[in-house]
Amino acid sequence: MTAPDRPVIVWFGRDLRLSDHPALTAAVATSQPILAVYVLDESGTRTRPPGGASRWWLDKSLQHLAESLARLGALLVLRRGDPVEVLAALVRETAATTVFASRDHRPDGASLQQAVSERLAGSGVKLRRFAGAVLFEPEAVATGSGGPFRVFTPFWRACLSRAAPPEPLPAPRALVPYHGPVESERLRDWGLHPSRPDWSAGLASAWHVGEAAAQDALTRFLSQGVAAYAEGRDRPDHVGTSRLSPHLAFGEISARQCWHAARHAADADPRLERGASSFLRELGWREFSAHLLHHFPHLPSAPFKPDFATFPWRQDDAALARWQRGATGYPLIDAGLRELWQTGWMHNRVRMVVASFLVKHLLIPWQAGEAWFWDTLVDADLANNVCGWQWVAGCGADAAPYFRIFNPIMQGRKFDPDGAYVRRWLPELARLPTDVLHAPWEASAATRADAGLAPGSGTYPEPIVAHAAARERALAALRQKNDTSGEFSQSG
Ligand code: FAD
Repeated sequence: MTAPDRPVIVWFGRDLRLSDHPALTAAVATSQPILAVYVLDESGTRTRPPGGASRWWLDKSLQHLAESLARLGALLVLRRGDPVEVLAALVRETAATTVFASRDHRPDGASLQQAVSERLAGSGVKLRRFAGAVLFEPEAVATGSGGPFRVFTPFWRACLSRAAPPEPLPAPRALVPYHGPVESERLRDWGLHPSRPDWSAGLASAWHVGEAAAQDALTRFLSQGVAAYAEGRDRPDHVGTSRLSPHLAFGEISARQCWHAARHAADADPRLERGASSFLRELGWREFSAHLLHHFPHLPSAPFKPDFATFPWRQDDAALARWQRGATGYPLIDAGLRELWQTGWMHNRVRMVVASFLVKHLLIPWQAGEAWFWDTLVDADLANNVCGWQWVAGCGADAAPYFRIFNPIMQGRKFDPDGAYVRRWLPELARLPTDVLHAPWEASAATRADAGLAPGSGTYPEPIVAHAAARERALAALRQKNDTSGEFSQSG
């Protein structure tokens, strides 16, 4: 086989799209035949395996990617196993000259790519990695002294002072597909879609998966949502955010595409400027999380602030199970956890409150909540999830102080003032009057009976802990941690 007939491999990962895909564009530019491959590694030895909701999404996303490639005449080859072994075998089988991939800057993904690169180098084949998963590569943004940022606002200011990220690339209109013999596993044999039981009906009705759906979601958000985003993004009772997070997590859309589309929308209509900047700032938190995880690779398992290692967490499996099921007796918390269970997503404001409830009201370690979110979120993303949890738990970079303890009743009244969110996810409370909806135990016996909530009926649980007592217990735990670490205690 002559060199131009030998294929190049495009190794897909968390970049399940054809547009703005620099690795694919560069592979196509070689004019060599393209062999697209996705490798599923469920062993957990190199990277953290996807949770249940992510597996559901991945199944659909791979179908869409395979269909898009098929329209260009190319096959998406599916293989399972250690990517180092799988790619080395594919190179051997096809005599591929180069492997193209999007750069993975997560610590475990980066070491995997390094291992692949070293293994292929042994056969004279190069792994070429291309930027594009984030707006700014994690090491491109640095403090004045050249180190990583630890605080969001100066980090984002530094990002904004840089040249804008490159304009997104179009999807290739044509490519030379590889037609040599190569075996692919069948997606349906991977069992990514749940069975026995199939719990995914709620996910299917909440989401359209794939690159085209991601572009539609962005277009819809910029035409309908962004105008009121700055004011509305904290309200879980209506659709005020983009809901792009699973598409971004799987790379069905790139952050650069979101950036440029938002900038163009605001340039065309200055009334959208406030919403667009606020949306880009949230993308900035995604950047910040990626930056932190890159520079502090221990974050998935250890607190950013080391003194939190001595925090007196409790192990309470029964309380954790009630929290997971959405049966804490606090309506906003339970509504959020039911939304998560049914749709694989939860509004950001509610994520903050339910996470705070776990680590402060119940004193359960943030890692337990992070693991639950990892399994149940369709947008599960290592950097965002770990940094989100550490932020709430007070142990992360630029975190909310631990002593600032959300009151779940007040949060409900403020951000779900008419109770539409709680009524939607907790139909058993739907008939309660709004003034007691976020604290059903405050309703008179007659009101509760009228609403079908007679005591002892088991319709809705009593609070798992009383807010005031739980708050005191959390502050006492903080003092105990500070006494051990010698830190000055502050509470308020
Ligand atoms: P929008 O408000 O439309 O924001 C646009 C995009 O910006 C999002 O899609 C997301 O990519 C990014 N973004 C927004 N807020 C944040 C944030 N606080 N941190 C990082 N990126 C952000 N997000 C995930 O993508 N995956 C996770 O696993 C995840 N776990 C979280 C865990 C906790 C405890 C908390 C408090 C937050 C977590 N987030 C996570 C961040 C945030 O809640 C979601 O990104 C957001 O709710 C997604 O909805 P959206 O796409 O409509 O957001």
